[in-house]
Amino acid sequence: MSNFKGKTFKVVVIGSGPAGLTAALYAARADLAPIVFEGPEPGGQLTTTTDVENFPGYPQGVMGPKMMQDFREQATRFGADCRWGMVTEVDTTKRPFRLVVDEQHELFAESIIVATGASAKWMGLPNEQRLRGKGVTACATCDGAFFRNEHVVVIGGGDTAMEEATFLTKFASKVTVVHRRDEFRASKVMQQRLFDNPKVEVKWDSVVEDVLGDNVVQGVQLKNIKTGKSEILEDVTGVFLAIGHKPNTDLFKGVLDMDETGYIQTIAKTTYTNVEGVFACGDAQDHVYRQAVTAAGSGCMAAIDAERWLEEHPVEATQNV
Ligand code: NDP
Repeated sequence: MSNFKGKTFKVVVIGSGPAGLTAALYAARADLAPIVFEGPEPGGQLTTTTDVENFPGYPQGVMGPKMMQDFREQATRFGADCRWGMVTEVDTTKRPFRLVVDEQHELFAESIIVATGASAKWMGLPNEQRLRGKGVTACATCDGAFFRNEHVVVIGGGDTAMEEATFLTKFASKVTVVHRRDEFRASKVMQQRLFDNPKVEVKWDSVVEDVLGDNVVQGVQLKNIKTGKSEILEDVTGVFLAIGHKPNTDLFKGVLDMDETGYIQTIAKTTYTNVEGVFACGDAQDHVYRQAVTAAGSGCMAAIDAERWLEEHPVEATQNV
């Protein structure tokens, strides 16, 4: 693998989920020799999920990490250079754009594809943060097996909560789903799968007021928001957050136009951002669909947009590796 430091690339892709790796695949096949910085979670959110049953082309389903390995392999086969690293600084005030990786290595880009995705949200309770990794987690796939024959709580009422709760019944003796309303927003099929599972109990209209325990989780305090009554579940040892996601776009605050929750705004049915030469795809710019297949589709669009834009806006004396 050649040294990227100080060099200028036609396309730098930031992020390595379905959007980033599809952008890399298309850019590589267009002879743009993209470099991909994989970020803190190479492969993105799907590496923390189990079965993916809704990605076309896998009639029997596929494990999330395996699918992302396939994405990466396909992109690198055509010359995408995927590597560990976090882009920590971006200067788009002049072309080629300047980027810094891991706070120390500088490189330049004629165009940038932002595919930084989104991350799990936390409730923001002090004890939730204190006990993170000690029973509090946002990844059932990663941590579920630690809770064999134990009682765990899943917070949330979306598809993630359904999926994680159902998955956790493989290990846990009991799974209590805590949801703040009296109905789930999850798809009907996933709700039904949950209701059919005898290990699951649902606490409706309820929130977690506190996570209990000194060094590890030893219970949760719930509050029913309709009755105002609090209740302690003393035997709970695991708390799984499944309350949605936040886009990973802090790096571009003040640079790229975003909505009030931080999702990058793209221009009418394209992946163009307000900065010429910077394109955005995947969950970083989509709070509506948020599916692997839509992320991959927008990654493809970003690469095509970047390719066309580069043709129309050549930079002289580009030195590619
Ligand atoms: P969602 O935003 O769909 O759901 C979040 C859930 O958490 C909601 O029920 C919400 O409650 C609740 N919630 C949000 N904030 C809080 C809070 N502070 N305290 C308590 N509860 C809270 O996120 P998901 O991660 O479930 O799903 C995201 C997207 O990914 C969706 O489009 C989903 O369809 C998709 N997905 C698809 C899967 C599949 O098809 N295999 C698997 C997983 C996700 P309320 O309902 O009251 O707003």
